[in-house]
Amino acid sequence: IHIEIVDIPVPITVGPAFEGEQIRSDGMYVEFGGQRTPACELVKMREKEEIEDGKVEVIGPDIDDIEDGDKLPLGIMVDVYGRNMEEDFEGVFERRVHYFCNYGEGLWHVGQRDINWVRISKEAVEKGFTIEGIGHILYAKFKSEYPSLIDRLQVRIVTDEDKIDEVLDEARERYTKRDDRMRELTDESVDVFYDCTLCQSFAPDHVCIVTPDRVGLCGAVSWLDAKAAYEIEPTGPNQPVELGECIDEHNGQWTGCNERQYKESSGKIEEVNIYSIIDNPMTSCGCFEAIMAMLPEANGFMIVNREFSDQTPVGMKFSTLAGTVGGGNQTPGFMGIGKSYVSSPKFVKGDGGIRRIVWMPKELKEHLRDDIERRGEELGLDNFYDMIADETVGETVDEILPYLEEKGHPALEMDPLMG
Ligand code: SF4
Ligand code: ZN
Repeated sequence: IHIEIVDIPVPITVGPAFEGEQIRSDGMYVEFGGQRTPACELVKMREKEEIEDGKVEVIGPDIDDIEDGDKLPLGIMVDVYGRNMEEDFEGVFERRVHYFCNYGEGLWHVGQRDINWVRISKEAVEKGFTIEGIGHILYAKFKSEYPSLIDRLQVRIVTDEDKIDEVLDEARERYTKRDDRMRELTDESVDVFYDCTLCQSFAPDHVCIVTPDRVGLCGAVSWLDAKAAYEIEPTGPNQPVELGECIDEHNGQWTGCNERQYKESSGKIEEVNIYSIIDNPMTSCGCFEAIMAMLPEANGFMIVNREFSDQTPVGMKFSTLAGTVGGGNQTPGFMGIGKSYVSSPKFVKGDGGIRRIVWMPKELKEHLRDDIERRGEELGLDNFYDMIADETVGETVDEILPYLEEKGHPALEMDPLMG
């Protein structure tokens, strides 16, 4: 591939070598987002005239205006114009923000959309790095990696408390628009899925198979994103998966997916069921938004999201579970998922679907409220939302079982999970 070298005017080193670098709270100078302050990132296509190529602007305080240990809001707004650019590419480019930021030595980024979380280290600030530098890194990386798609690009970084709400609204409106477009698609309406092997850099045998009904487990790669990524970079980490023959409709097994799974796991895994957590489930890398686990005593599943750090009914906290589930293995009974998979009619369909969910943290439940209620109604379950236990009911199976019984949770009446 031809890589155009664009000089990056920042006093820190920028490169993939720094991707895994951590910045602990005692080593950081300033942080943004991570549920501590409002934050978002958005790549948006605009008209040619709206963009001054190369412009990087910080709207609000920069390093010189703050003190060591401060927290600021953050809106990373990347405006793009290109003759060959398409709106469907926005989400893919937006995900690059995560990687490009992490390339900066002393710059740390996790999450996406309006749950991003960014830190700048004390060392980077001592070298003279500023918030504006984030914009310069993004400009240089985007322009050098996508010269045929991006003709003009500018970055606005909003750190002003009074202006963050405005950009948050703009970003959320765009996320909703993308999600709505995605919701119109189902697994039956397409004839190819896409794989994602982006995480093989640290989980060499892992592959996500991304379908319209099942987002990648990081939550950041939808089927549309994967399709766009393939169009942008035909030899890149997202390749079409021709479905071939359907072997098992109930569990979601196709010859094409099996073949891809076999190839990408270096021959270690021969079968994958897209709609099951028990029988040959998809592998997990490490960046799942949430982890599902089987609770045989409740005949159902629990789901815990990354943000929840307390004990869960499976007897492990998220961090411990993550160590058990990750690394590119199939772990029947455990699986990393993207949060929005829960709202799909295909959600662990082979194992009984959403009816099996017996526990999740209150915050995750709130986040998924509309979807859970809608799915509950579709399945003719009255008040299903209320039947799902959370940490206020209990954090062990013994604590939640009486609640499930009292509410008449449907999982208790279903076929035993362990056959
Ligand atoms: Fe791709 Fe899956 Fe990694 Fe997300 S978690 S980047 S979909 S391989
Ligand atoms: Zn991953």
